[in-house]
Amino acid sequence: MKISIIGTGYVGAVSAACFAELGHEVICVDVDQSKIDRINAGIPPIYEEGLSELLEKYAGRRLNATSDYDFAVMNSDISFICVGTPSDSHGNIDLGIVKAAGASLGDSLKKKEGYHVIVVKSTVVPGTTEKVVLPIIEKHSDKLAEDFGIAMNPEFLREGKAVYDFMHPDKIVVGSIDKKSGDIVASLYSGLECEVTRTNPRTAEMIKYANNACLATKISFANEIGNICKGLGIDTYEVMRAVGRDFRIGPYFLNSGAGFGGSCFPKDVRALIGKASEIGYEPVLLRSVIELNETQPTRMVQLLKNRLGSLREKKIAVLGLAFKNDTDDIRESRSTPVIKELLDNGARVSAYDPMANENMKMLFSDIEYHSSAADALRGADACMIMTEWDEFKSLGKEFDVMKRRLIIDGRHMLTPGKDVEYIGLCW
Ligand code: NAD
Repeated sequence: MKISIIGTGYVGAVSAACFAELGHEVICVDVDQSKIDRINAGIPPIYEEGLSELLEKYAGRRLNATSDYDFAVMNSDISFICVGTPSDSHGNIDLGIVKAAGASLGDSLKKKEGYHVIVVKSTVVPGTTEKVVLPIIEKHSDKLAEDFGIAMNPEFLREGKAVYDFMHPDKIVVGSIDKKSGDIVASLYSGLECEVTRTNPRTAEMIKYANNACLATKISFANEIGNICKGLGIDTYEVMRAVGRDFRIGPYFLNSGAGFGGSCFPKDVRALIGKASEIGYEPVLLRSVIELNETQPTRMVQLLKNRLGSLREKKIAVLGLAFKNDTDDIRESRSTPVIKELLDNGARVSAYDPMANENMKMLFSDIEYHSSAADALRGADACMIMTEWDEFKSLGKEFDVMKRRLIIDGRHMLTPGKDVEYIGLCW
C-alpha cells in the first residue's frame, strides 16, 4: 500500500522505515528541511538502533521525503499523523501541531478524488481524533466523514529499541470510526505476527494513556519502596527481584532510581491528569506518580550535599545525559533537574554522555562536555550516574582520576569498589 507519514521524528521516521521494510511505499512529510534531506540521503534524522540500515536500504527507492503535503496525499492511500504532542504551560496536552498537520492534510485532501484514510498515530487525549482532528479535516477538505476514513493507531515503541519494537509488537491497536478504514489500517500490519485489537478511536487513545500511566506508576511505586528501603537499610533490588517473581506483577519496571523521563511518560501522565480534571475527576494516584518522579533527582543532590556540604566551586561529574540508554533523546531527562540544581548551588558541572552531549548543549551551553567518562571524571569532587548506559557498568579505574572518589549512583549501575565512597539512591 502507499503510505504518507506526517512528521519524521522518533515515531514517524521509525514507522516510515519499518512500513517500507514491510513492503509498503512510503512518503515522509516534515516541515524541517534538514530532516527531509537526511532521510532522502538515507541518513536517520535521529539515532535509533537499526534505523540507519533500513534507510540505507529504502531511501530513494520505496521511501522518500518531502515538504509537499499535496504530493504526499496524491501519491498515497493513507496518511499517518506522527507529529509531536507536547505539554502546554499548564501540563495539559498541546494539540497545536496535530491541528496544523490535520489542516494541511485537509487542504490537500480537498484536491484529491477517491478514498483516503487519515490515521492519528501521535499520542492524543481521548476524544481528539473524533472531536478535533475529524472536524478539521472535514472543514479543510470540504468533505464529510463518509468520504474519507479516519482512525487512531497508537504507537507503543520504546526509544532505543524502536525498530525492533515496531517489527515485533506485543500489541497493535486500531480504533476507527468505521469498519472500512479500520480494515485498511489493520491490513498494513499483516506482515507482522501480532493480533490487532480493533476498537473505536477514543478507546484506542485511552489504551495508550492507560499503558503509559501504568508503566510510570510502576516506576514511581518502585522508587517509593526504594526510598523507604534506603531509610531502613534494606537493598530494594533484592526486595523487588523477589516481588517481580509474582506473575501478577512481573519483573519489569521495578528498578528504583532517579525516575522516568523521555518524551512520553511525564507528558502523557500530565495530559491524562489534565483530561481527568476537565471532567471533574481528581486523579490523586497519577498526581503522586508525577510528584514522586520530580523529587527523585532532588534526593540525589541531597545525598551529595550530605557528604560534601556546600557545593560551591565543587566539580561534579555527571555521567549520562540521555533520558535512557541507547538514545540521544534528552527530553525530560532526569539529568536536567540534577544539573540545574548543581548549578544553582554554585557547582561546576563536567558532563559526559556517549550520544547526547550535543543535544544537552542546547539546554546547558555553559557546562563542560567531554568525550569520555574518564575525561569528565578528572579532578571531580564527586560523580553522579544518571543514565543506564552499558559502558558505565564496567567503570572502575576511571574513578582514580577524581579528586574525591564519591559516587552517587541514580541507576544501580556500579558494583562498588573498595576504594570508592559509593552511595546508591535507593539502596
Ligand atoms: P518528534 O518531536 O521527535 O517528531 C515530530 C516531527 O514532526 C518533527 O520532525 C517535526 O519537525 C515534525 N513536524 C512538526 N510540525 C509538522 C507539520 N505541521 N507537518 C509535518 N511535520 C511536522 O516527536 P516523536 O517523539 O516522534 O513523537 C510523535 C508523537 O508520537 C507524540 O505524540 C508522542 O507522544 C508519540 N509517541 C512517541 C514515542 C517516542 O518514544 N518518542 C513513542 C510512542 C508515541
